[in-house]
Amino acid sequence: MESRRGNQMEFSELPATRRIQRLSSHISPAVTAPPQQPMVQTEACASRSKKLEVNGEALSLYMRGKHMDIQEKVYEFFNSRPDLQTPIEISKDDHRELCMRQLYGVVREAGIRPFRYVADDPEKYFAIMEAVGSVDMSLGIKLGVQYSLWGGSVINLGTKKHRDKYFDGIDNLDYTGCFAMTELHHGSNVQGLQTTATFDPITDEFIIDTPHDGAIKWWIGNAAVHGKFATVFARLILPTHDSKGVSDMGVHAFIVPIRDLKTHQALPGVEIQDCGHKVGLNGVDNGALRFRSVRIPRDNLLNRFGDVSRDGKYTSSLPTINKRFGATLGELVGGRVGLAYASVGVLKISATIAIRYSLLRQQFGPPKQPEVSILDYQSHQHKLMPMLASTYAYHFATVYLVEKYSEMKKTHDEQLVADVHALSAGLKSYVTSYTAKSLSVCREACGGHGYAAVNRFGSLRNDHDIFQTFEGDNTVLLQQVAADLLKQYKEKFQGGTLTVTWSYLRESMNSYLAQPNPVTARWEGEDHLRDPKFQLDAFRYRTSRLLQSVAMRLKKHTKTLGTFGAWNRCLNHLLTLAESHIESVILARFIEAVQNCSDASARAALKLVCDLYALDRIWKDIGTYRNVDYVAPNKAKAIHKLTEYLSFQVRNVAKELVDAFELPDHVTRAPIAMQSDAYAQYTQVVGF
Ligand SMILES: Cc1cc2nc3c(=O)[nH]c(=O)nc-3n(C[C@H](O)[C@H](O)[C@H](O)COP(=O)(O)OP(=O)(O)OC[C@H]3O[C@@H](n4cnc5c(N)ncnc54)[C@H](O)[C@@H]3O)c2cc1C
Repeated sequence: MESRRGNQMEFSELPATRRIQRLSSHISPAVTAPPQQPMVQTEACASRSKKLEVNGEALSLYMRGKHMDIQEKVYEFFNSRPDLQTPIEISKDDHRELCMRQLYGVVREAGIRPFRYVADDPEKYFAIMEAVGSVDMSLGIKLGVQYSLWGGSVINLGTKKHRDKYFDGIDNLDYTGCFAMTELHHGSNVQGLQTTATFDPITDEFIIDTPHDGAIKWWIGNAAVHGKFATVFARLILPTHDSKGVSDMGVHAFIVPIRDLKTHQALPGVEIQDCGHKVGLNGVDNGALRFRSVRIPRDNLLNRFGDVSRDGKYTSSLPTINKRFGATLGELVGGRVGLAYASVGVLKISATIAIRYSLLRQQFGPPKQPEVSILDYQSHQHKLMPMLASTYAYHFATVYLVEKYSEMKKTHDEQLVADVHALSAGLKSYVTSYTAKSLSVCREACGGHGYAAVNRFGSLRNDHDIFQTFEGDNTVLLQQVAADLLKQYKEKFQGGTLTVTWSYLRESMNSYLAQPNPVTARWEGEDHLRDPKFQLDAFRYRTSRLLQSVAMRLKKHTKTLGTFGAWNRCLNHLLTLAESHIESVILARFIEAVQNCSDASARAALKLVCDLYALDRIWKDIGTYRNVDYVAPNKAKAIHKLTEYLSFQVRNVAKELVDAFELPDHVTRAPIAMQSDAYAQYTQVVGF
């Protein structure tokens, strides 16, 4: 009793720094294989349970990003600076301060300059973002606000004069900034923003105004404490000589200085408030901005898509407000691409922690025999193995997205722009929703220990949760995917072209929409079910059917409800269509990645997880396939049995599969994820 109380006292008196030191001692443990445990084999699996031999090195090599070197530089910097590592317990204000110091550290001390890559080498930029986000997700977002949102808006929406004036200051953090789009009354509906920028021809200035409380800029990252500038999205109002007196040219972006460069005081007419303590990401200082007749030079209009001359005339290469608005938002998809990519990173971390722990943790077992690993329970495999397969699937899909985005930035090819826009909206919403749900599953899969803050699920879940909302709410983004699909569908029947992502619809819409083949609907052999053609056909068939049926429903309801009402009547159907399409794209990329892998052993491992991903998805939607007799009852049963078998096979190589992510130890620093002596490390953390 005595010693226990002593330990508790010791724990409560431990200064934060000592606890961090203890934690950092767990950051680089010797990674060894978990102890071998007896494996429980389900009846269905027992006869075919030969373990796949995985060449871990070849698999890691194939999975490894192109920019490991710059990521290593980030990790080395933080390993050398324990004072810059975020402790488990930290107040909002200290966290914000630390996050700013972390960012200065990366840029000014480690000499890593993310802004230089935003436009010229986005793949490298996303690699940096992933690495700093693994140190602290707040830091990843803070860096994203500075370089991708504030910096990105200046270089992508502005012209040479803006680049010349602001690039260096943004790059070296002298010009810290914000991206002020969202208002209290308008988030997703950006075209409804109310802030105004009225041109004053006498002084050659714009006057920025917040006309009412609903137009206060809200949630603006970097605004509460650190930002000196903001890209403010406002309606451009021009004086006219007609009876109306003014003309609303729609939403445009303006550079507005918000704090004095020397004193850091808010500038006259700019009122700044703090959005306060949040559910997560408390290292980012989100604030609210109100403008009272703030005057800025005409040059501060980011004028790539629309300009105002000295005498107040508006010019643009784009003919309509809608086209200009589309082009403006189109330039901002980089944020979405980054979030989709980062979300897969979070999924890798949480799946790794949960799977390593589940291999190690033993509960119950056959009578008078040792307890078994919890990952030997079929239910546990069911929770985690399809998730591991999905993590691989999303890895390849988002790598593809980043590649396409980089290509788009270089070529500005119109077709590619449309393609990346839809693909980024779809993958961002699909992947972030999946990761958010998986974080809870992983926490639960680790039982009570999953609930200890030191084991990371709490902070990962809280920090990641908002990925579903910012950079475009997921439900709203999926509708953009559905709308794009319908547009392509309509164009197909009018003989138009389809963008790259949807080309499968052009190639095979007719065959997918034909009546299901009653013979193949009965095929149930393993070779057939594991044939990529069967899997991809099944995914695409579902998407094509959903597309055709929703198009018909929309046509019918539009007659009575109008376009808006018909869309709303079919909304759930439309969202299912968008998700189904994204799943088809993900599977196609995954199959391609398996085929492109040159090492036979790594390829076999990838084929295994790819099959599990595909069949698990088909099984989850088996009602749809059964309803239209795409799959006969015997085949449905075979799919289910094979999915369970594949889950079991993946369990057998789960360690190798998570090790291939090659996450540095500080990333999975949860003691329960440490593979050697995990319990000893865990008990040390709490002070024994
Ligand atoms: C931590 C944090 C940081 C942020 N950083 C910034 C920043 O730096 N700069 C910035 O400008 N903004 C920022 N935002 C704002 C963010 O971009 C918005 O919150 C987001 O765009 C969603 O807008 P909203 O909050 O108004 O939600 P709403 O649009 O009001 O959505 C609320 C709900 O309604 C649903 N909904 C809305 N429209 C539809 C529809 N048409 N069909 C079906 N359902 C619908 C949505 O699915 C959602 O569930 C930040 C927000 C947070 C929380």
